[in-house]
Amino acid sequence: MYPQNVIVVGAGPVGCTVALLLADRGIPVTVIERYPQPHPLPRAVHLDDEVARILHRVGVSDAFLAGSRPASGLRLLDARHRVMAEFGRDTDATDNGFPGANMFHQPDLEALLFDRVDRHPLVDVHRGVEVHAIDGARVPLTAAPVRVHTRAVADEAARTFTGSLVLGCDGANSTVRRLIGISMRDLRFNCATVRTRRTSSPPSAGCSNPGPAGPTSPGWRSPAARSTPSGPDSLPASRSGEPSCSATRPT
Ligand SMILES: Cc1cc2nc3c(=O)[nH]c(=O)nc-3n(C[C@H](O)[C@H](O)[C@H](O)COP(=O)(O)OP(=O)(O)OC[C@H]3O[C@@H](n4cnc5c(N)ncnc54)[C@H](O)[C@@H]3O)c2cc1C
Repeated sequence: MYPQNVIVVGAGPVGCTVALLLADRGIPVTVIERYPQPHPLPRAVHLDDEVARILHRVGVSDAFLAGSRPASGLRLLDARHRVMAEFGRDTDATDNGFPGANMFHQPDLEALLFDRVDRHPLVDVHRGVEVHAIDGARVPLTAAPVRVHTRAVADEAARTFTGSLVLGCDGANSTVRRLIGISMRDLRFNCATVRTRRTSSPPSAGCSNPGPAGPTSPGWRSPAARSTPSGPDSLPASRSGEPSCSATRPT
């Protein structure tokens, strides 16, 4: 028999939220975070109504709303302050019960989540240890426990954690993803919005994916649809006549 706890790697917003969702349902959670202290700077600045609803589920939405600001949308400007693209959002509550777009300070949100995580009797937090190896993650869940090996980054000693399963919540450059062999499909850089304004050239091979936020999205409002080509928002074609975007494949 092995412990029936879930091991969560990473104490960012995703790791803390999933730890609370599980623990609130009676499932013990071990959270492993490599940094001894929360990151002091924001990365995310915006979240939508669906995420706010999840924050409500883990009990921090009132404090979140008190410190966030509904946003009426997004407008992208070029270097000369001409509009390249924009979309609007309703600042009133949507069907999810929260404004569609919310500007926030990530360290404040993380402090709210940490506070609940640290006080939850079913969440065991280990900071200052970095996951570098995992055993048992590639076999069926019922076949074996998962063993997560860590090395010390700060005060806590290197050790092995054992649980029923592991959740990789360790961010964009996930170690867990690499260790258990999860692959990613490159959807390529979405430059359809920029190309719409700058050129009528057909998509180049490197920019062929319009992506989910492209001109056919419901919230999308192409500049061509709201102003004439000679209007104040219009942009000239790039000098070469080529799309002024670049697509890079992550290494
Ligand atoms: C400049 C910038 C702007 C951004 N703007 C937005 C935005 O507006 N909206 C938005 O939704 N997102 C935005 N993001 C992305 C944002 O960072 C993420 O949405 C959010 O932080 C992701 O949360 P997370 O919990 O998945 O990962 P992270 O916040 O990255 O947390 C992962 C945690 O895992 C830990 N970890 C990593 N590897 C290990 C390991 N081997 N062992 C133990 N711990 C480990 C890390 O230390 C970290 O604390 C932005 C990112 C950047 C860089």
